Amino acid sequence: MKVDFYRHGLSRADANAVADVLDSPFLTTGKVAHRVEAELCEYFDVPHAILVNSWTSGATATLMALGIGPGDEVIVPAMTFIATANVVEMVGAKTVLVDVHPNTLLLTPEAAAAAVTPRTKAVIPVHLYGQMVDVAALRRAVQARAGRNQQIFILEDCAHCFEGTLNGERPGRYADAACFSFYATKNVTCGEGGAIILRDPDLHGRILETRLHGMTATAVNRFAGGRYNHWDMKRLGIKANLPDLLAALLPAQIRSVDDSLRRRQAVAGRYDEALAGSPFRMLGNVVGCNTASHLYVIGIPSGRRDEAITVLNEAGIGVTVNYRALPGLTYYRDRYPQAGSECPHAMLWGEQTLSLPHYPDLPRDEQDHVVATLLNQIATIA
Ligand SMILES: *Cc1c(COP(=O)(O)O)cnc(C)c1O
Repeated sequence: MKVDFYRHGLSRADANAVADVLDSPFLTTGKVAHRVEAELCEYFDVPHAILVNSWTSGATATLMALGIGPGDEVIVPAMTFIATANVVEMVGAKTVLVDVHPNTLLLTPEAAAAAVTPRTKAVIPVHLYGQMVDVAALRRAVQARAGRNQQIFILEDCAHCFEGTLNGERPGRYADAACFSFYATKNVTCGEGGAIILRDPDLHGRILETRLHGMTATAVNRFAGGRYNHWDMKRLGIKANLPDLLAALLPAQIRSVDDSLRRRQAVAGRYDEALAGSPFRMLGNVVGCNTASHLYVIGIPSGRRDEAITVLNEAGIGVTVNYRALPGLTYYRDRYPQAGSECPHAMLWGEQTLSLPHYPDLPRDEQDHVVATLLNQIATIA
């Protein structure tokens, strides 16, 4: 039996929304994107949302708008996707890799605060696998450590958590900005895309510029009133806007995301039950968090993870590794050679972790095959 790691939930019916854009004269960021931004504002109860063409470009535009660059430090968890740290490197700042909690694999307020120096400008907490970091506590801890004369920005990496909550609150509530990914495998997707949500109107204005070359007017505004309007460039920007052609795929998913979360959690619950008492290392639950359940991960404690991958692949099962820890990757090891020994929990999990097939419509018989293979063939080498 073949079990795909992931299958998206989009169908030909979703193409109608794209066809509607083709019927209009305007293909890039316009009315559709603005409507989606309004829907994001409503969903997250925030005044501002900005669609971007990826998490990576959105986070880069945000760091640029915050004026973060050479000489600055940004705290990033050592267990995350490379993009979280790459954006810091891209703007020329120093990535300060910090270890994660061994049970939840999340950045903790204590560890982040301990890494604060007078050069710290920002922290990028990651809601890894869908469970949420306590951003309010994180902000209190790092700000207390920094003192009154040093403002530390919080940029939430919500690539794994669109629809989750912590103590009933959605992402973005306590951050200066929160960034989402609509990449092909994310819970909400348009192939490639992302969004930034935020409260501060000034920062919103600056990100609108850094999102579009630094131009002071968007394409729509340049032709507002039926005539050409001059624009200026006050700050350097990148090209990060999302075209309406892709944005058109988002509204239907935003409307159904809470329903797909229930089905996603049901799949995760079946894994939880079947693997309880097995020798695999399981993720600890964050108290008060309704997880977005983006990935279902287990650990192979024996150090024979890569053998386990081979066995699962031979049984037709697609699996991935999310992630080998950043300090172990060549670029980050060369650049920050001490980070590996400073982040033992992230390094160990990076050697053990394995992500199982997990999406809302994973067929039951396929999931049974995954569980049977794990318990019959992998448990003995775990
Ligand atoms: C996918 C992902 C990103 C990058 O998202 P893109 O939209 O592909 O740029 C960043 N952080 C995390 C944790 C991710 O999983």
